[in-house]
Amino acid sequence: MNNSAAPTSAPAEAASAGHFIRQIVAEDVRTGKHGGRVVTRFPPEPNGYLHIGHAKAICLDFGMAAEFGGRCHLRMDDTNPTKESMEYVDAIRTDVRWLGFDWGEHFYYSADYFERMYEVALDLIRQGKAYICALSSEEFKVYRGVPTQPGLESPSRHRPVEENLDLFRRMRAGEFADGALCLRAKIDMASPNLHLRDPVLYRIMRVSHYRTGDAWCLYPMYDFAHPLEDAFEGITHSLCTLEFEVHRPLYDWVVAQVSPADPPHQYEFARLNLTYTVMSKRKLLQLVQEKLVSGWDDPRMPTLCGMRRRGYPPVAIRAFCETVGVTKYGSLTDMALLEHAVREVLNRTAPRRMAVLKPLKLVLENISAGETRTVAAVNNPEDESLGTRQVPFGRELFIEQDDFLEVAQKKFFRLTPGQTVRLRAAGFVTCTGFTKDPASGAITEVRGEWFPAEAELKVKATIHWVSAAHALAVEVRLYDRLFRVEEPDADKDADYKAHLNPDSLRVVKGYVEPALAAAAPGDAFQFERLGYFCADSRDSRPEALVFNQTVSLRDAWAKLSKPG
Ligand code: ATP
Ligand code: MG
Repeated sequence: MNNSAAPTSAPAEAASAGHFIRQIVAEDVRTGKHGGRVVTRFPPEPNGYLHIGHAKAICLDFGMAAEFGGRCHLRMDDTNPTKESMEYVDAIRTDVRWLGFDWGEHFYYSADYFERMYEVALDLIRQGKAYICALSSEEFKVYRGVPTQPGLESPSRHRPVEENLDLFRRMRAGEFADGALCLRAKIDMASPNLHLRDPVLYRIMRVSHYRTGDAWCLYPMYDFAHPLEDAFEGITHSLCTLEFEVHRPLYDWVVAQVSPADPPHQYEFARLNLTYTVMSKRKLLQLVQEKLVSGWDDPRMPTLCGMRRRGYPPVAIRAFCETVGVTKYGSLTDMALLEHAVREVLNRTAPRRMAVLKPLKLVLENISAGETRTVAAVNNPEDESLGTRQVPFGRELFIEQDDFLEVAQKKFFRLTPGQTVRLRAAGFVTCTGFTKDPASGAITEVRGEWFPAEAELKVKATIHWVSAAHALAVEVRLYDRLFRVEEPDADKDADYKAHLNPDSLRVVKGYVEPALAAAAPGDAFQFERLGYFCADSRDSRPEALVFNQTVSLRDAWAKLSKPG
């Protein structure tokens, strides 16, 4: 298994190697199908924010177009106005751009095709290929039947063309109640594929549309609209998830009705599923509305805006999507793989800084009070070009409570009376004593003797620290999985919210070195020995810094994939 989270392969490799979609597109380009053109689209419904599953589709749609010199359209699939809004449209554009993709001039709304789709529908009626049906939705289901037996024809199936035209125009004019009539394609009531048993093309629905307002009370169904949009825009490869596989014969039927010179083809791939989270927009909206998270961009959410706020670099998400690959088989991907991809990037790019989250005072008795020195600390050992910075250092430091033990256990190499450790970038300290609160038993202060780096003492541990006189007090938000179980919505009859992790957010006060005063919202750092963190883009201000934990340092994925 390739766990190196490699970036997208070079085009030359792509033709021979890679997933089945890449092979199909490469072969089509080679044989000159579609005149060598590659035009894809990413068609989200603006009824929620994009999540990591969408990232897989975006990387595939935009990725294939880029790799084969084509283009990818961004299209709002807004044919069902009940839950759609401009807020979501704007968020989708922001997130796709952030992920690193550009649609150029090719931004479209399905709603802008409503008039054209209506004309296609009128044409189908004129050709006797569609009719107005008066069955209720319950009757519709009964008439449609089951795959093993032919369905029943609607009593309206042989309604004369003129009557159908008249009714359809009056439906548009608002003469009928919601659901009273619908337009159906006349295909095959005996088809073993239920989607071909005279599917509904239009329904009456009095709902304002965020783009067309109240201009329409008649809205096209996805199965009618989507293939038409693809045909109108000259899409060549229409990539979608597996649940649409059974819709493909209908997709092809609708496309054939407008006889495009170069018809689009639909290909299906498996959805991305990730452990410890839910991915349906309905459920994510519920978490937001019920205030179980702070919003769509809560850093625990699997949304792209949540991951951005959490500090996930877009390049890491792209690398993750490439590693996951594209298959025809549904599977569950380990969240640890995504976190691994994030670490791979941040390890190379994030400057190191020191922060103490559970402070304990360490007094260096051989340094006089009021004396401030500075030490040079390396910004990133992985990248010398990032240089060093000066860190203030003095008599009183904060260290982590966990780095001191009154009575050392076996294999505890950090501070304990008589033991010496290295202070990151600042020489050594030998522990000479400590003070304890007699009432609570808590350690209140540790004392030590300091030695410069040149002393080259032999030690088995390095600890981090910040100068107490110079430290900045900050808020740090520590995150754990949003859900306690791998598949919170595995049981369709149970409430996935029962699996929410009550400890997924822990807020602590910490101290950081003064260099972090300049941290701009979104800036990423490695807090030495603690993990990767970023300044919160919503709440962090220069006078009150707030940091989000992006990911810990412990790489569960690397451990899993490299045993021993
Ligand atoms: P949801 O089930 O959350 O409502 P959806 O599929 O209805 O998601 P859309 O906005 O229609 O959401 O999705 C836009 C595109 O992204 C579609 O082509 C869809 O197939 C794809 N997509 C959605 N979820 C995933 C996923 N988990 N993995 C891969 N692709 C996805
Ligand atoms: Mg959808």
